[in-house]
Amino acid sequence: MTVRFRGKVFLAAFIVGAVSAMAAGLVLQAWIRRLTVERIEATLSAETRLAAELLTRNPALPLDQLDEEADRMGRLAGVRVTLVADDGRVLGDSTEDGAALAAMENHGRRPEIQAARARPEVLIRRYSTTTDYDTLYAVVRIDHPTIAFVRLSLPLTEVADQQWAVLWLVVAGVAASLPVAALCAWLVSAPIGRRVEAIALVARRYATGDLTRPAAGYGDDELGEVARALDATVHELGRRVDDLAHDRRHLRAILSGMVEGVVVLDPQGRLVMANDAASGMLKLDGDSTGRRYQEWMRQPELFAQIAHALDGEAPGGVEFVLARDPSRTCVSRAAPAGEPEGGAILVLHDISDLRRADRVRRDFVANVSHELRTPLTAIRGYVEALLDDPPPPEQSRRFLEIIARHSIRMERLVKDLLRLARLDAGQETPDMVECDLGSVLQGVIADLTGPIDQRRSQVEVRLAAGARTVVSDPAKLHDVLRNLIENAVNYAPEGGHVVVEAEREPLALVLRVLDNGPGIPLADLTRVFERFYRVDKSRSRAPGGTGIGLAIVKHLVELLGGAVTAGSRAEGGAVFTVRLPQADGKG
Ligand code: ADP
Repeated sequence: MTVRFRGKVFLAAFIVGAVSAMAAGLVLQAWIRRLTVERIEATLSAETRLAAELLTRNPALPLDQLDEEADRMGRLAGVRVTLVADDGRVLGDSTEDGAALAAMENHGRRPEIQAARARPEVLIRRYSTTTDYDTLYAVVRIDHPTIAFVRLSLPLTEVADQQWAVLWLVVAGVAASLPVAALCAWLVSAPIGRRVEAIALVARRYATGDLTRPAAGYGDDELGEVARALDATVHELGRRVDDLAHDRRHLRAILSGMVEGVVVLDPQGRLVMANDAASGMLKLDGDSTGRRYQEWMRQPELFAQIAHALDGEAPGGVEFVLARDPSRTCVSRAAPAGEPEGGAILVLHDISDLRRADRVRRDFVANVSHELRTPLTAIRGYVEALLDDPPPPEQSRRFLEIIARHSIRMERLVKDLLRLARLDAGQETPDMVECDLGSVLQGVIADLTGPIDQRRSQVEVRLAAGARTVVSDPAKLHDVLRNLIENAVNYAPEGGHVVVEAEREPLALVLRVLDNGPGIPLADLTRVFERFYRVDKSRSRAPGGTGIGLAIVKHLVELLGGAVTAGSRAEGGAVFTVRLPQADGKG
């Protein structure tokens, strides 16, 4: 490409040079020709005048010597000399002699002779029938007894010969000037070609994305100006492309970081883009791009909504269950993408957690109502019995004891619910200090003396050497252990054996509460920490539990930074393990 450009410039310059040389040659040739003709004409006229003068001065020249005189003059002047009498007879001619001369046609009608009758001097060019050439005639009328006109003529073959000579000279000159023209053309085309080549090289580099500017400038002329303008345009475009790429990366990062699914459709409903969340919800694969939504979408309930958005309307939200995972509920909102592109944008919100929380709340309210209704019904029944038909004092006392037990149970339930509400609201904060585990456990066992004695249980405390102190909130630790030990006492059979163990691990204190009760079935091990969850409702209500003790334990342990798990002992019975992280390995 570049070579071709340089070649073109070279060719143009060369042709201009060559044509100029040829034109100059032709002009020169025409000019030389004119000069030559003018010189010949002037010489012929002067020679004619000279011959006329000589003949005028020699009036006594006899008639028979006239031809001889013409011959002599012709020889000296190198032209044809014709002496013509006033009546047109040829008296002498340098080219004809004797009989031929006598036979010569009368020249009285020759144009130059006729013209010479009117003017003293005539110069004329015409075709000569005598010589068969274009011939130049100069005629001078003289004052002589016998001769009237002296005519000198010269065939123009000489002029033609000179013209050819000049033409050859011109051709030779042009031929000689061609290498010079080529050299000049090369000198003109080479630097331009080199610059265009350099600019093309930069353009090719720019096309590959490398926008570093060339070290050498583009020059100060128009070519440089054009190159600089294009260079500036390329850089400006490059900057805009960079900005666009940057914005696009930003947008992609935002979209892929969004929890909401975003789907973009073109005006024909073909998929333009879907972020990761949307791909996950709608189970999209890479092949879906460019295909109509009816082909890849497995949620037909969204079709009408999308169709409305594509028509430029703003339809309301649609709630739907994911085809691939019925446990997930989503809400889809569609909107027109707006001018000028058109199309639609679909935003999908996963509201499963919201729905689950709603269900949990409803279950909770139902459970609370149920838990409160049972003791309330009992209390009301016994109170009515006491009021309607007062029984004997002994039975009355039994009724009152039942009423008191249910009241206490209700009070405990309300207390536990309030505690749970406080924990849920984050209103309790741990107050971490180094506490003596032995005295915490002593306090718990003292609190539980009633139930322990009542069930004739045995509570054994086993504190490992490094596990006597723990950094924790003693009040909350007390509540955790109290709940676990009370459950162990309650669920173990009468006269049961409860063990409280504490041991130190490098980065935690591990507490275990073990009993020899019925234990907890495997399926219920994780669920016992849920609110109001009971393994066996008929059995567990008997010990007077509220069903939220373990939920409070879990909350408290997590507040202390630890974790609680339930398990079964190999020999039967349940084991609850509380792991409290400790900063270092010291006991
Ligand atoms: P409750 O007030 O009913 O004891 P909890 O939240 O303390 O409520 O316990 C939830 C359920 O876990 C109990 O109803 C019971 O079924 C089971 N559970 C708790 N501790 C034990 C244990 N030591 N042995 C057997 N089952 C237990």
